[in-house]
Amino acid sequence: MNFSLVNRILGLFSHDIGIDLGTSNTLVYVRGKGIVIREPSAVARRKKTKEILAIGASAKKMLGRVPSSIEALRPLRDGVIADFDATAAMLTYYIKRVHDTGGNIPKIPRPRVVIGIPSGVTEVERRAVADAAIEAGAREANLIEEPMAAAIGAGLPVEGPEGIFIVDIGGGTTEMGVISMGGIVVGRSIRIAGDEMDEAIINYVRLKYSLLLGQPSAEEVKILIGSAGVEKEKYAVVRGRDLENGLPKSIKLAGSEIREALSPIVQEIIGTITDTMQETPPELLSDVMERGIYMAGGGSMLPQIDKMISEATKMPVYVSEDPLTCVVRGCGKVLEDNGLLAKIRVSRGL
Ligand code: ADP
Ligand code: MG
Repeated sequence: MNFSLVNRILGLFSHDIGIDLGTSNTLVYVRGKGIVIREPSAVARRKKTKEILAIGASAKKMLGRVPSSIEALRPLRDGVIADFDATAAMLTYYIKRVHDTGGNIPKIPRPRVVIGIPSGVTEVERRAVADAAIEAGAREANLIEEPMAAAIGAGLPVEGPEGIFIVDIGGGTTEMGVISMGGIVVGRSIRIAGDEMDEAIINYVRLKYSLLLGQPSAEEVKILIGSAGVEKEKYAVVRGRDLENGLPKSIKLAGSEIREALSPIVQEIIGTITDTMQETPPELLSDVMERGIYMAGGGSMLPQIDKMISEATKMPVYVSEDPLTCVVRGCGKVLEDNGLLAKIRVSRGL
């Protein structure tokens, strides 16, 4: 019998799954249902036995709060798989959660899975991620690189010959690439993104006010009043530890201060975009000049970052709709379109 036909018929019944394995957030898309899971990429486990205690939001809450016998961690922190066992545990947990109906009878057929991964993940790690997905019950695992998934999610025609420039600013990494004919022609991944912005705010406040902020407070103030370019002044009150006497203290911060703190990060991202353009073949570059630069990822929501990039590159810049879900929606589109899957570059596990 025709194997692909069998696969297609099975596909009608299975809950095929798209997963964005991000450094900050993991999202899961189920065919026919849409996005069903949105959780921070975090795992908490016992140090000695490696027993998993929590995954997702409840594990994130434990970051920086656990006793020494427990570790709470972000398995993909810097855009590489920092902790493989924790990554596999997370993947397995989500696949099972979507796939299991709760009964004792195993659900048939097993799902096909498309996983978006940071482009810095090595070939060996890709194999291991695909194996972990198969182990968790997938019948087929396809891995696509985050910039490719983001471009597909943004509705861009990645399989055509024209060049597309996409920049995805996530938590741990900023990934960018020029895509043509279903592949990434020139790509860059740097470990400078949302987490570094939080770090920059922490350093700024420590130096200027002798106040130590926690990462969640720094992230909150970034989202509340941060921007890449000059804006109408906004203020926010933050609480931290006074480094002179060790006691809690609140201060009021202005948006312009956050902008100053974030400026080196924004400049570094812009510098990497111009470097990538310099490596881009001229024909593709002229397509990009016409079409502009597309942005995705949580970091692209920093107000005016699009305008700063546009000024520096002299090109139009567009932030895609709902940038936090672009990658997982791209994985979803690949699941739903076998023709597209055949046209783009993927790593497979079967
Ligand atoms: P990843 O793909 O690496 O998991 P995401 O695309 O989910 O990352 O983006 C997470 C990052 O986006 C975090 O650093 C978060 O602080 C940042 N972020 C979310 N919303 C905003 C916002 N409105 N302004 C600036 N940064 C934001
Ligand atoms: Mg991402």
